[in-house]
Amino acid sequence: MKKILTPIALAIALAGCQATGDNNESTTTKSEVVAQANPFFEKYDTPFGIAPFEKIKNEHYLPAFAKGIAQSKAQTLEIANSPLKPTFENTIEAMEKSGALLNKVSNVFYGLTGSMSSDEVRAIAKELSPQLSALSDDILLNQKLFKRVKSVYDNKDSLNLRVDQKTLLEVTYKSFVRGGANLNENAKQQLRDLNQEISKLSLKFGENLLAETNSFEVVIDKESDLAGLPADIIAAAAQTAIERGHKGKWVFTTHRPSKNPFLTYAENRELRKAVYNGYTHRGDNDNEFDNKQLASQIASLRYQRAQVLGYKTHADYVLENATAKTPQNVFKLLDQVWPAALAKAKIEAADMQKMIDVEGGKFELEAWDWWYYAEKIRKERYDLDAAEAKPYFSLENTLQGIFYTAEKLWGVTFVERFDVPKYHEDVRTFEMFEKDGTSAGLFLTDHYVRESKRGGAWMSSFRKQHRMFGEDVKPIIYNVLNYPRPVGDTPTLLTFDQASTLFHEFGHAIQGLLSNGYYRSQTGTALPRDYVEYPSQVMENWMMEPEVLAKFAKHYKTGEVIPMALIKKIQAAGQFNQGFGTTEYLAAALLDMNWHSLETAELQDADTFEQSYLDKIGLIKEIAPRYRTTYFSHIFAGGYSSGYYGYIWSNIYDADTWEVFKEKGIFDQATAEGYRKHVLEPGGTEDPALMYKRFRGQDPKIEPLLKRRGLLNK
Ligand SMILES: [Zn+2]
Repeated sequence: MKKILTPIALAIALAGCQATGDNNESTTTKSEVVAQANPFFEKYDTPFGIAPFEKIKNEHYLPAFAKGIAQSKAQTLEIANSPLKPTFENTIEAMEKSGALLNKVSNVFYGLTGSMSSDEVRAIAKELSPQLSALSDDILLNQKLFKRVKSVYDNKDSLNLRVDQKTLLEVTYKSFVRGGANLNENAKQQLRDLNQEISKLSLKFGENLLAETNSFEVVIDKESDLAGLPADIIAAAAQTAIERGHKGKWVFTTHRPSKNPFLTYAENRELRKAVYNGYTHRGDNDNEFDNKQLASQIASLRYQRAQVLGYKTHADYVLENATAKTPQNVFKLLDQVWPAALAKAKIEAADMQKMIDVEGGKFELEAWDWWYYAEKIRKERYDLDAAEAKPYFSLENTLQGIFYTAEKLWGVTFVERFDVPKYHEDVRTFEMFEKDGTSAGLFLTDHYVRESKRGGAWMSSFRKQHRMFGEDVKPIIYNVLNYPRPVGDTPTLLTFDQASTLFHEFGHAIQGLLSNGYYRSQTGTALPRDYVEYPSQVMENWMMEPEVLAKFAKHYKTGEVIPMALIKKIQAAGQFNQGFGTTEYLAAALLDMNWHSLETAELQDADTFEQSYLDKIGLIKEIAPRYRTTYFSHIFAGGYSSGYYGYIWSNIYDADTWEVFKEKGIFDQATAEGYRKHVLEPGGTEDPALMYKRFRGQDPKIEPLLKRRGLLNK
């Protein structure tokens, strides 16, 4: 899922999300020449007001952004310098309504950077990034503007605002305050220095990790040491050897496509140990690329920044904007799942030890044995060939299965349209209708892999639903995936996981499509990171239901419905090794929380800090956290600090919601309506935790998640 522009500070989000992955020289543009005929400067004369993609050329972007940025700046100044007494309408709402042109061009440009990329597009993005962060600074550092915002905020209780207006006011005010607007000049300078230092060290952390990841290798020169490995993995290792100057040998590295199969299949235990240790000691080799000191420095600086801004810890600062709200809530949740996961992992370890003993291994299971024995057990007990299910999940059938599910739940129908502009011939366009026949939005799919598309799967929008200019603007939502194209007469056939991803992304899409809000920045999937994956995860559940499978999971040649026995096998295999998976994930999430709940600026010895914490929570030696401190780039080089727990947080809402559907019926109309009304429609108009309570009548319980993962040991 990709997030689209948020509030007032659309620029903040933009500058933030475009900061990575660009390394091309900027090119000159023919801006002057084409400015006259720039489609962004005209009203779109198209069905549904979708962008006229065929008219938009790369050279239109920069001039449109330039004009859009200038417009936003002018509007901001006008609001800030207004002689009128500050009101919600002339300040908060006026800011929300500003930036129409910037929004128009951003929706297209940032919508296509992932799916229609090129050197030229990347160069434009690179050129835009500093301009947009400058705009963001212009807005957030404008003292006059902040004074007006603060004045409205201070009077909020006497304004008689609607709930979504209250939220908008709160979010707007907070984004100023979190950027330091409330501080005196001295503290502001301190904040700037800290921010600069943190970003410098984070960059270095990432560079060190890259160097460490690239430098490690295990060179094999005896063919017998390759025993157990599949042929394609051996061939890839021979190729790597050539690239690294070891022609005629085989090289394995800590990169996932090399490390994972090696740990899973290689029979040579000593070599598994070497690869495993290489991976888990990245950034922890006491050399020039060591990350121990850096991690500790970053944590310390973040603590200092939190203090300057008036928060107890960095985690308090981050979580204020999350559904979880406080570090205590996160710990409470993680501490509840942890014992169950650990207990299950211990059972799994004992299981493997038994296998080792039976085989006459005469050694104790170690961390570098886990993948190898897990795979052996998986094969023995589940014997599941991923290819077996594929003929039942053609892309077209799966898509129809999704539409069937949406119709049964909410009465909405999808009709394909062929008269709507598209940015690529692979795109398919569907119009969504409500039960009463009202046209309710467009759903675009872009399913096939191609060179100009980045990997992965995501949802976003070319236009979000909103009503802030009076008219009810209908959403234009898209799903982008990376499936293989059909070959000859054979349609695209999906693995079970790929089919599941199609449901997942549609779960995001339907939230965008059923969105029902007033302010654009709040609608659709404008939600905290620890909540936004919840509706998409919920959607995956319907796919597993016999009633739904019977409708769509039909063999592409014979039309036969997928055998229930096969589904059962897939389900059972899904629970396998979950003790391990949950434990290594939770250990990393806890480690993240622990680093960022530090209440001191004092530097820590990273190894000691990490190990003593893992000992305290009782992690067994056969499992390492999914990320150890020195290569935890999500939190030290990326934007996930105090946020890695978010995956399981969303998962709890998902499992708890599915519990109701299972209890009341998977297509129970009252439940589907409640879910629509309280979860899908409101988007970010209110505190998600409150809205959930309204849907469910209570806070989510943790048991459904434990049950699903096979962690409830009855
Ligand atoms: Zn998602």
